[in-house]
Amino acid sequence: MMRLLTRHLIALLLFTVGFTVTPYSSAQSRAVSVGVYANEPKILLDQEGKLSGILGELLNEIARQENWQLQPRPCEWQQCLELAQSGEIDLMPDVAYNDSRAEVLDFHTVPSLVSWSQVYSNENLQLRSVLDLKDLRIAVLQGSVQEDYLRGLLDSFDLKAQLIGAPSLQQGFALVADGHADAVVANQRFGDFHAPSYRLQSSSIMFQPAQLFYATRKGQNADLLAAIDQHLANWQNSPSSVYYQTLLRWGGERPRLLIPTVVWWGLTTLVLLLIAALGGAWLLRRQVHEKTRHLQAGEARLNTILDSVEAYIYIKDVQLRYQYANRKVCELFGQNLEQVIGKTDEQFFDIDTATNLYDNDNRVLTLGERVQTEEINRSLDGNTQHAFLSVKLPLRDDHGKIYALCGISTDITEHKKNLEKINQLAFYDPLTGLPNRRLLLDRLQQALAKHARGLQQGALLFIDLDNFKDLNDTLGHDMGDQLLQQVAERLSSHVRAQDTLSRLGGDEFVLMLEGLSLKPEQAGQQVEHAGNKIIKALAVPYTLQGRSYISTASIGIALFPMEDSTVDEVLKRADMAMYQAKAAGRNALRFFDPAMQAEVSARASLESDLRQSLDQHDFILHYQPQVDAHGQLVGAEALVRWQHPIRGLVPPGEFIPLAESTGLILPLGRLILRAACQQLVVWANDPQLAHLTLAVNVSARQFHHPDFIEDVLAALAESGAKPERLELELTESQLVEDVETLIDKMSQLKARGVHLALDDFGTGYSSLNYLKRLPLDKLKIDQSFVRDLLEHPSDAAIVRTILALGANLNLSVTAEGVETQAQYEALQGMGCKRFQGYLFAKPGPVQNIEHWPSAPLQPSQ
Ligand code: C2E
Ligand code: MG
Ligand code: MG
Repeated sequence: MMRLLTRHLIALLLFTVGFTVTPYSSAQSRAVSVGVYANEPKILLDQEGKLSGILGELLNEIARQENWQLQPRPCEWQQCLELAQSGEIDLMPDVAYNDSRAEVLDFHTVPSLVSWSQVYSNENLQLRSVLDLKDLRIAVLQGSVQEDYLRGLLDSFDLKAQLIGAPSLQQGFALVADGHADAVVANQRFGDFHAPSYRLQSSSIMFQPAQLFYATRKGQNADLLAAIDQHLANWQNSPSSVYYQTLLRWGGERPRLLIPTVVWWGLTTLVLLLIAALGGAWLLRRQVHEKTRHLQAGEARLNTILDSVEAYIYIKDVQLRYQYANRKVCELFGQNLEQVIGKTDEQFFDIDTATNLYDNDNRVLTLGERVQTEEINRSLDGNTQHAFLSVKLPLRDDHGKIYALCGISTDITEHKKNLEKINQLAFYDPLTGLPNRRLLLDRLQQALAKHARGLQQGALLFIDLDNFKDLNDTLGHDMGDQLLQQVAERLSSHVRAQDTLSRLGGDEFVLMLEGLSLKPEQAGQQVEHAGNKIIKALAVPYTLQGRSYISTASIGIALFPMEDSTVDEVLKRADMAMYQAKAAGRNALRFFDPAMQAEVSARASLESDLRQSLDQHDFILHYQPQVDAHGQLVGAEALVRWQHPIRGLVPPGEFIPLAESTGLILPLGRLILRAACQQLVVWANDPQLAHLTLAVNVSARQFHHPDFIEDVLAALAESGAKPERLELELTESQLVEDVETLIDKMSQLKARGVHLALDDFGTGYSSLNYLKRLPLDKLKIDQSFVRDLLEHPSDAAIVRTILALGANLNLSVTAEGVETQAQYEALQGMGCKRFQGYLFAKPGPVQNIEHWPSAPLQPSQ
């Protein structure tokens, strides 16, 4: 006890020193050697020889922050301990504290992990209690605390079993798997992780809960221990810390609020065994006054065991006076055994606790029930509180009369706190404290099940902040976070207790309303009312670091239940409605509308058709001639057509946008480029056509793809087409992205001889300044200006300006969409030299180009 206290005091002292005087400056890195014995998931070396596992990763993180240079040193368990003892390694993770180890090693104070020992065996060996271990061959880790403990446990029950020392836990498991041992003892974390791969299962025999620490040579490395304590203490106080994330990742430990059944079984087993022994001994003592030496020895042995377990064990008589209490109970009460005996719970706990304990105990004593329950015990002054998992059983004499109860309580305070933290981490958003996506989906699932019975209506409101990205980009993420927190507060003040408000991530919040009117119209009005209130509340200016900031939100609403209301479906509908609200100018609210759904479904089927057609190469190119001022053919533009099995020839306007948004434009674009290049080669072999250029449209997504240049060059190289005959048409929208990369890409193509044209010029936004910097060859006047050229002087002025611009920048200019002779002549009059439009020909099969009259065409209109 004194030793333990001293250890805590030293650690506390070191901890304080560690804060004030950091022995190693952060610039100076400190080499720290670490003993690693493979004990996945707690500690192991990864493929690169770095520390891994829960304790390994935690140490890596501490080392990173402390500027330690970790030097892993693989060793077997016993050897590792010896190395730590002799100071050949600085740290040894995963060491359970006990008094004899504390004589040769130093430990820090905040446990790095809590674990317990468990017995694992083949599936066909059903081990229910310690008694079942009789005559078995049990593998244990050599020199481990489990070995000593198990030996003592077996002795005290007078059980013979053969303990086989294994140098590593893996070898222990392998011994059982190979039939050289019947069972193996391991810490639960290792065991649960590895048992399945050895086809072993955990039994309900568990014992010796242990706190695990990093240990080091006695009197050395106090600074290491202090730093470890500091990090562990900080992390264990923060549910979102790397500590719990690491536990989650390695444990796969799903937050469970319930105590696992296996723990109940284990405890029950322990209780039964102890009762058999302890109850027998105590009754014997009561009945037989003279103690035999054998009994004394047995009792002493039993006391040693009872005092060494981490559980709280006690016996109360029918008046609920303590008749026995082990060391843990005495420590809890701060009194020795003599002082505890004869007292009742009112003398140790506050009145609520005492009443609750009385009720539980009474069930055992009067009804003879075995009570298993969680008990929250507050001290008499109300200052400390512990959560216990208690199992209480009646003790009966030879006539079956209950004369006392025996209880075993396990302190699960830390366990519960951890569960709460893990629960918080797993189901709540750390920034706003709101339920996260996972919890929302869970609640939505429950709501759908409830609403499916047609008893209620509900609604999902998808709330997305408008232009949040701008705030983040301009004022920084801190400001963004502040806004999100304030939004969460405002939203919270507008929801009722039965509603679920959650943050999906980023600037997306979802509010689930339940219990709306059964009449759809009324339900709609209720939701609209709620939605409008939210829009208004969120539009009130915010104060962010003293500055006023205005933010608005767009809300999409989906009512449920609807047909096929799955969680995904409802969420998707609300999301789609939110996009409608954005499209309607933001700061607005929209309901999901079935017409919208129809559109989405049509898009989905179009997409799948598109994919199929791509595989089957159901696309063809049509060609539209381009002529000069004399009507002479100078080139053509390739325009893609989709030969749809049912819909016939589909124009590009109906599928290019979809191909762009789905990324299918990339394979499609490659297909088109290849076909165009092959066509150029065919023309090159015909003296009449060899001079023709062929323009190919290129989408933004295609152009910006990293492989684009390579694709173009490959199409040219594979076909043998001349780059000078190929003209790529880009649109202005392509020019808004990163100009330098754009210029670089264009220049690379230009350097290979490929021509570049700017399509639909005048409809987008091109700054003259940077138009000048682009290595272009041609501008194509958009057909909208040509169409109204004769009617609207402003369009004529734009056309003139574009022609002048072309002349100044040394770019050729083609007028698109020339439909009438009058337009043709007017354009000629303004100095335009290249033309394309229905006046000359509509886009059509390649034969139209090949049979183009060689004499200058005199279009008649
Ligand atoms: P664009 O590149 O501006 O092509 C000109 C469009 O105007 C073509 O429509 C053409 O048929 C049409 N057109 C030509 N002359 C006249 C005329 O005198 N009057 C009228 N009203 N229209 C005329 P199309 O073939 O439906 O193509 C539409 C757009 O689809 C193209 O506009 C282009 O942006 C895109 N597109 C076509 N083929 C491809 C392709 O292979 N790849 C990519 N990425 N986009 C393509
Ligand atoms: Mg074009
Ligand atoms: Mg165009």
